[in-house]
Amino acid sequence: MSELVKRTAAGLVTLGVKPKDVVYFLSPNSPEFPVVYLAIVYIGAVAALGNSLNTENDIALQLVQTKAVFVITVPEQFSKIQKCNLPTILIGDDVLASQLKTTTSVSLLSEVCEGDYIEMAPPECHPDDTCSLLFSSGTTGLTKAIQLTHRNLMSSVTAYNTLEPGDSTREDDVCVAIIPMFHVFGLGIIMLSTLQRGACVVTMTRYSFPSMLQYIEKYKITVAIVVPPILVYLVKNQEMLAKYDLSSLRILMTGAAPLREDTMKSIQAIFPKCVTRQGYGMTECPLISYSVVANEHPLPVMTTGEVWVRGPQIMKGYLNNVEQTSATIDSDGWLHTGDLGYMDNNNYLFIIDRLKEMIKYRGHQVAPGDLEAVLLKNPRILDACVVPCPDDDNCELPMAFVVKRECTDLTELEVMNYVAQLVAPYKKVRKVEFIDAIPKSPTGKILRKQLTLKLRETGCGD
Ligand code: AMP
Repeated sequence: MSELVKRTAAGLVTLGVKPKDVVYFLSPNSPEFPVVYLAIVYIGAVAALGNSLNTENDIALQLVQTKAVFVITVPEQFSKIQKCNLPTILIGDDVLASQLKTTTSVSLLSEVCEGDYIEMAPPECHPDDTCSLLFSSGTTGLTKAIQLTHRNLMSSVTAYNTLEPGDSTREDDVCVAIIPMFHVFGLGIIMLSTLQRGACVVTMTRYSFPSMLQYIEKYKITVAIVVPPILVYLVKNQEMLAKYDLSSLRILMTGAAPLREDTMKSIQAIFPKCVTRQGYGMTECPLISYSVVANEHPLPVMTTGEVWVRGPQIMKGYLNNVEQTSATIDSDGWLHTGDLGYMDNNNYLFIIDRLKEMIKYRGHQVAPGDLEAVLLKNPRILDACVVPCPDDDNCELPMAFVVKRECTDLTELEVMNYVAQLVAPYKKVRKVEFIDAIPKSPTGKILRKQLTLKLRETGCGD
């Protein structure tokens, strides 16, 4: 692995990548993913990790936002970055990649990594230098780039790998990477922690429930880290499990969104010999020490308040966004998560609700602000507000409250189809309700919580 990373790093240097350059890396999970990621970081460049489900538009915005100077991607994603006119390095299927190498700005990584190479020493860097940019809407507004440093990621890896014996990954473990490695959970916990342990990562490029079960049987997977909807589906389709030998599993962990207690209990009954765990974190701070706070004061146990976190894992800040950074991390270093929770008498943290605007669809983040901007571009829509609609199978569904322009015929389906054409599949609006006016404060701020609470009281209109 380290030989491959050094060879790839030398290849990237040959192609002109320099320390501090932002390299936009767009790839689904694959065995090459960790090699390329570590090579970017090894040469002191910054890896901006794009979501391969995103649209050309989303990606174009992120390229500008991060001031990326190179793109590394797979042939299947090439059409999404073609227009950006940045030097592009292709990985993956060499035959497909050669067909796309029509201009001098496109190179094949495999070509420069062949044969002998000169091993370079990594440049001097500081633990607080940014090594990765990941994307999140944070507590409010549009998607932002989060600056994670070497210290942030290494302290998360160390924290995970020093959990109680039995709970973290061992050298002889085989971990299946289903959660995308461009998400902090896939990057920090699955990829970096497992590799630091010297254990094995098996990558799944495309998830389906039967193929996950096949992988567990075929590769004798011992650690499976998944998002809650996979476990909900598993509990509802237990009859499928009997067709596979899943006896190798020793740790079953979920994260990135809440898992209901009853689902966790069912999972424990189905896999009585497995350690089952639920991980809580956010892109801005994977694995942390925390306090539950109200009006800036720590609360006693069993009392609900906002969860604040502090420690070496806290991001450096949102890229080029001082205002949002200081609204999120206070002058004492506490990051205000926007999550509501309480601590029990045994110091266990219970997350019970979200104050912030974010929606979690099957573990993917959807920023209501991004969808509202799309809706408001429709000339038949006067105003719109997007909120999370609770959904057992998918965590939450993006739901739009829409105010139609006068004298307009517009159906719920038309609104959904309109948005679906313009956004990545996981961001689609899946429910619509027409209303007369969006509730707003005297200063014009959308009172999103009012609509969220209304939904909880009346249900999602099924
Ligand atoms: P992300 O930055 O995509 O990881 O999203 C972080 C947010 O997801 C957190 O602030 C929570 O709102 C939510 N989240 C992640 N894990 C959990 C969990 N185990 N329980 C409840 N909410 C969670």
